[in-house]
Amino acid sequence: MKIAIGGFFHESNTFNPIITGIEDIVVFHQDEIYANKSSYVMAKGIIDYFQSNTDYQLIPLVFAKAVPNGEIDKEYYLHLKEKFFAYLENETQIDAFVLALHGSMRVHGIGSAESDLLVDIKKRYPNTPIFSALDMHASMTKTMMNKTEAFVAFKTAPHIDVWETGYKIAEIADYSLQNKVKTKTGYTKVNCLIAGEKSETECQPMKSLIQELHKIERDDDILSASYCLGFPWADAEENGVTAVVVSNNNQEKADYYAKYLADKFIENKHLFDFSMPSLPPEQALLEALKQDKKPVFVSDSGDNPTAGSTADNTEIIRILTNELKDKINNKTILIAGIFDPIAVETCQQNLDQEIELFVGGVYDTKYCKPVKLKGIAIKKVEGFGMLNTTLILFKTKEFELILCSKHIGFTNADMFKALQIDYQNKDIIVVKLGYLTEEFIEDAAVSFMALTRGCTDEVLSRLDYTYPYELI
Ligand SMILES: [Zn+2]
Repeated sequence: MKIAIGGFFHESNTFNPIITGIEDIVVFHQDEIYANKSSYVMAKGIIDYFQSNTDYQLIPLVFAKAVPNGEIDKEYYLHLKEKFFAYLENETQIDAFVLALHGSMRVHGIGSAESDLLVDIKKRYPNTPIFSALDMHASMTKTMMNKTEAFVAFKTAPHIDVWETGYKIAEIADYSLQNKVKTKTGYTKVNCLIAGEKSETECQPMKSLIQELHKIERDDDILSASYCLGFPWADAEENGVTAVVVSNNNQEKADYYAKYLADKFIENKHLFDFSMPSLPPEQALLEALKQDKKPVFVSDSGDNPTAGSTADNTEIIRILTNELKDKINNKTILIAGIFDPIAVETCQQNLDQEIELFVGGVYDTKYCKPVKLKGIAIKKVEGFGMLNTTLILFKTKEFELILCSKHIGFTNADMFKALQIDYQNKDIIVVKLGYLTEEFIEDAAVSFMALTRGCTDEVLSRLDYTYPYELI
């Protein structure tokens, strides 16, 4: 049997004015995915499943992914979609599509990318089933529900079951094709938005809600159960939480369990809260400065590029160079970082010299302004990571700041190591993140979340939503 595989993976933040385009998106065409599957772990799960089964031949199409950011450029998306279908032109029979989608990718001027893609697939292949893995923060639309046979979403946040989710959707597709069973999926929506930092799966109430999913999956008629939590930093008509239950062929049971899961979510709604001490930015920094242990991590949570923020908000830098400049004393502070290609360029031309430099505030013009710093670009690294980013370490009187030429996430110590920073000996490390990643949790002696304003404001009520969601 022939299985077409492909994927589009992006979390698009509608509060961020940046348009995510060709420069930001990593694309693997056709067979390229095999050599690069570790860079697209959800696809790897799908590929690994089918490659261990000789009944199947895979037809890889387009796999595109980018760091969360503003909406995707329409022309470039349409180009990638055209390629996706072009690679199928010589195929006469496709038995199924098995996809690795995010679920909250938005295209500027189109809206939900997943809805758009699934409609087009069904238009061209009306009788071919579609199965897709999703991120836990997928925003389920009616179109997605109507066009797809089955969805499976991650059960962990931070997401550590990405490969397993890809593998699982492949297993469901295999089951459906081998047994000639048309899977039935039940959906129930809950009209609320919840910040990711209140819904980590090792914390309550998510921990118990995830156990409910596992319990339901023990029923022989159920192939999978998921919560798609939606993506809070997208002001989109069809957002919110959706319980998704896939059954072998029992629609009634799938509907019953989906409603049960939605009810459980509503019952537990009042228990959602931040898992780490969360304070206004100045207070979070003051608390960090008081600690004896090191390193103290401070998340600049209102500007978290891994949830699609601009990564150039300067509020923390402004506070450290103004209100708190006399309270730093001899504490060493590392800030990761600021996305500012122009500042990077200026530093490259003036390495090892004291300069005055404006940083940040270029894309986020709503919640901050560029800040003028006096300091020295002491280190430079080129070609960092998949986007070939140039990194600069800029040292001022108050702190060391990493400047980046590309919009990237600050999720692990790779960039500290690349810049040869003795980061474990810093007193304070400020990262543009929400909840800390596993790696940083291990590094952190103490951690605080600074509730900065920005495109990923954790206090959802401070953002301007057009659509009337209950905000948790
Ligand atoms: Zn997610």
